Amino acid sequence: MERALELLRKTFGYAEFRQNQADIIHTLMQGNDALALMPTGGGKSLCYQIPAICRPGTGIIISPLIALMQDQVSALKQLGISCAFINSTLDREQQREIERALLNDELDLLYIAPERLLNDYTLNLLDRCKIALFAIDEAHCVSQWGHDFRPEYQRLTILHQRFADVPRIALTATADEATRNEIKSQLDLHNAKTFISSFDRENIRYHIIDGQNGLDQLWQFLQQEHPRDAGIVYCLSRKKVEKTAEWLTARGRIALPYHAGLSDSLRQHHQARFLRDEEVIIVATIAFGMGIDKPDVRFVAHLSLPKSIEAYYQETGRAGRDGLPANTWMNYGLQDVISLRQMVSSSEAAENYKRVSIHKLEAMLGLCESGQCRRQTLLAYFGEILDEPCGNCDNCLSPPELWDASEAARKALSCVYRCGQKFGVNYLIDVLRGKDDDRIQRNGHDQQSTFAIGADFSVSQWRNLFRQLIALGYLEVDHEGFGALLLTEKCRPLLRSEKILKLRRQRVSDNSSKTSKSRRDRRSQAEVLDEDRPLYNDLRSLRKQLAETQGVPPYVIFHDSTLAAISQLRPGNIDSLLEVPGIGQHKLDHYGDRVIEVVRSHILSL
Ligand code: ADP
Ligand code: ZN
Repeated sequence: MERALELLRKTFGYAEFRQNQADIIHTLMQGNDALALMPTGGGKSLCYQIPAICRPGTGIIISPLIALMQDQVSALKQLGISCAFINSTLDREQQREIERALLNDELDLLYIAPERLLNDYTLNLLDRCKIALFAIDEAHCVSQWGHDFRPEYQRLTILHQRFADVPRIALTATADEATRNEIKSQLDLHNAKTFISSFDRENIRYHIIDGQNGLDQLWQFLQQEHPRDAGIVYCLSRKKVEKTAEWLTARGRIALPYHAGLSDSLRQHHQARFLRDEEVIIVATIAFGMGIDKPDVRFVAHLSLPKSIEAYYQETGRAGRDGLPANTWMNYGLQDVISLRQMVSSSEAAENYKRVSIHKLEAMLGLCESGQCRRQTLLAYFGEILDEPCGNCDNCLSPPELWDASEAARKALSCVYRCGQKFGVNYLIDVLRGKDDDRIQRNGHDQQSTFAIGADFSVSQWRNLFRQLIALGYLEVDHEGFGALLLTEKCRPLLRSEKILKLRRQRVSDNSSKTSKSRRDRRSQAEVLDEDRPLYNDLRSLRKQLAETQGVPPYVIFHDSTLAAISQLRPGNIDSLLEVPGIGQHKLDHYGDRVIEVVRSHILSL
């Protein structure tokens, strides 16, 4: 382990191992198998990189995505580590060269896609070289029930049979127990030691707001919190993706669409710009994200409701991999709730699947409508107890006001009943507000007792109330797909005045003074003081220059957190630069002088 720690410090430039990293590394160094569950940004890669380097032979890393491999290999090369990948982007000559290096035991790490690994040619090649370990990254791809199923992953048991004495590690950021068990049995990891880290992403702030005008609210959020940051905006449909990207572009942001309807080359181009340039916003359907390793995504915004807490956690989890403060923000409304409910209940899927989907959607709605700490609710869903409210979510920062909605709810529910449970929400609101309307008059609903009993509420207030009544299960949406609202059993005690209903008051504008105030001591970018900002910006320019020369993303050269630390510490010579987290010997040798030059120019100008 001494050698491991030395590597961490000298090569990677970090002072200490995190939580489970040391234990996992120890397990592999002793030649045993491991299963590591760690959230995104938890530091999974070091867990196999360090033992792969320390143990004799080459560590074989099985990774499902080409883009991810390329990034990892570029980043490792920056640290002076000997590594390569084999995938379809290589020509014959390049591939031969890598095979030669492999057979000569010159590589510490080799990244490879599962289908490549499993062909006879590669397996024969591996028979002839020394293997330090196998790391199976994104191991949840083995799960048929998951969202990233890869059939080849299920054939990876062959590793165990063919290379019985090589230690294996499977890694994933998927938290649930079912997936964990599936990985164990599918990959034949019954004797593996399991390491489960906390899935709390402390640096991520959660924000969920309801109401209409999603785009305007998004704009306010972006301008206040992230005027120059890179981030992701998720929308449900391709059309909405296109519209939103155009809308943001028209207002002066760099916003690029990403969805399955675009050509491969355009999608790749937009993804590359997101990775390589700064300040780019990707507007995407959920098709975007897996394998995006960009560490400085400062925000993830949702303009529609994810279908489950798993999806929400995974998508928001793409923010802040570098551990610096990051924001997640979601706007959802009545229409989301109605559409998703309809989608699930009218789907043709098997009953069993449908039941699970409904349950997942309920949990997601529960999180949205809850007045409790978001993080406590989120983690509890994954079976993790957080003792105290987190202090870093909207509900903690500005606790929602509750109001007694019993009477208003009774009016709404009676109106549903009196109109025969045949109408959708817009019609019902018109009746409640007493609108002068042909259709209402033709139906005679202007004559019934609930007509105009809700004139004191605005349309938006009624929509808010209806949304909560649907989300909480007092109303359901018809199965035929017309959007008519029906009463459920749950209504009875409420209609009979046997029950009081307290609901969250709608937030007028959630990006209010409170969040802006707390921002001052938090900052959405790296922790950089105003007086250090000019130096920080110059360091960013240097980084961009270095990255462009080598054709790699800027974060492969230095992370924001490293630049922030340099701006603050202002090291005046090469030796003190080594103190900065993220700077190891190799980066010091290559970039040290250039960095010091920039720092000195600022010291002189002070
Ligand atoms: P994951 O693959 O789990 O999402 P990564 O391996 O990419 O996470 O690591 C996330 C970030 O944490 C990276 O920027 C990495 O350099 C950093 N990191 C990992 N381990 C440590 C450590 N022991 N000390 C400081 N930073 C670390
Ligand atoms: Zn909280």
